[in-house]
Amino acid sequence: MTAKSSDVLVLGGGVIGLACALYLLRAGRSVTVIEMGKVGAAASHGNCGTITPSHCMPLAVPGVITQALRWMMKPDAPFRIAPRLDFGLLEWLISFAHRCNWDDAKRVTAVKSQLLGLSRTLLEDLIRTEKLDCEFQTIGTMNVFRDAKSLEKSAWLPALVREHGIEIQTLDGAQTCAREPALKDTIAGAHFYPGDAHLRPNRYAAELARLVREKGGHIRESTKVTGFRVDADRIETIETDQGTFTARDIVFALGSWSPLVGKQLDLRIPIQPGKGYSLTYTRPSIAPVIPMTFKERAVCVTAWSSGYRLGSTMEFAGYDASLNRTRLDALRRGAAEFLREPEGPAVTEEWFGWRPMTYDDLPLLGRPSRVKNLVMATGHGMLGVTMSAATGQLVSQIVCGEAASLDVKPFDPNRFAL
Ligand SMILES: Cc1cc2nc3c(=O)[nH]c(=O)nc-3n(C[C@H](O)[C@H](O)[C@H](O)COP(=O)(O)OP(=O)(O)OC[C@H]3O[C@@H](n4cnc5c(N)ncnc54)[C@H](O)[C@@H]3O)c2cc1C
Repeated sequence: MTAKSSDVLVLGGGVIGLACALYLLRAGRSVTVIEMGKVGAAASHGNCGTITPSHCMPLAVPGVITQALRWMMKPDAPFRIAPRLDFGLLEWLISFAHRCNWDDAKRVTAVKSQLLGLSRTLLEDLIRTEKLDCEFQTIGTMNVFRDAKSLEKSAWLPALVREHGIEIQTLDGAQTCAREPALKDTIAGAHFYPGDAHLRPNRYAAELARLVREKGGHIRESTKVTGFRVDADRIETIETDQGTFTARDIVFALGSWSPLVGKQLDLRIPIQPGKGYSLTYTRPSIAPVIPMTFKERAVCVTAWSSGYRLGSTMEFAGYDASLNRTRLDALRRGAAEFLREPEGPAVTEEWFGWRPMTYDDLPLLGRPSRVKNLVMATGHGMLGVTMSAATGQLVSQIVCGEAASLDVKPFDPNRFAL
């Protein structure tokens, strides 16, 4: 069997495609991954690397639209929509706005927390049993508030997340600074999540790729999917700029590019690229130990022994691949409000990535009814690294026709009018 013909062809070599490939190989399938660039070089590269079951609430909650409108008045705010005529984005935003109510938010929290919880367990197991060298640490994460009123306003949160098995501790200013001395003493308080973890995302992706190769999988880099030959309801061949591939099953793990490639199959995949930025430095002398999100500025900081990163912001600007200086500077300014030493001595990378955002904040996992040998594994939004291991296991179970580790109905791609 050559690499051009395998049991399963995984389209996309980000953390999602690689995790799917790995679990399929573990299940005894032959697998080829097709990646148009280098594996792990897109959204999976420069993200913040936090593993956060704590982020089980969706983005769509009551009040978020008002907050977003307020932010849109400021060019350096954490959220921005680039002004342009885009009916796909408009439709996405309207659908998102419809979900900004407590009934939907609680329903999504319930299913998302199950996926995140499963993935947290599987990820640690995978990293430890396969000895993945990716600076993995299980010391929790913290959401930090500068303003006492913002902390007070979040008083409803602990009860809700505890309902879903998430451990949370609310700390006052002094307790927060005692736990994390890299913070300024003007902090109002924090929510600390002991069950969260973090890793270095580019190392994690590289280690997944190493393991895929070691287990006999093929990875074809610099190979772009350009089309499909479909017969009735099955994909017969996959066309790329490096030739034609065949497989019994195809896993669609193309992240933010999913709607573009989906068009070739007449699938309308409601994913928008949610652009985020990061700045990576050599370590400052007062580097934080615990990864933190600075709530009023929505800036995230993660430190590893190999470096230090400020990240985040959400920009809907289509597939605009420019680095927006205003938004990079906003990361610096946001961090400076919270940290004693907000920047490291040398910048090693300025980066952006496109998060594959669905409007209901849940990924698409499963077979679209119109294409029988296709399994979707996309739309992981702000939590693809966290959800990668569970996605890999569930996709492998779907492909192999095994019982799934959890109910995958809420992630059914057919919930959208594909
Ligand atoms: C600033 C920022 C911070 C983040 N922080 C976190 C975090 O702390 N924790 C967390 O869990 N998540 C975080 N995320 C989200 C996370 O990065 C994504 O959810 C995750 O990387 C998505 O993985 P993916 O494999 O679906 O997509 P990608 O990594 O984007 O992979 C998709 C791949 O498909 C390939 N591709 C596209 N089109 C084609 C084609 N035609 N042919 C072949 N290949 C193709 C691309 O080249 C790409 O490599 C963050 C994201 C950003 C931007």
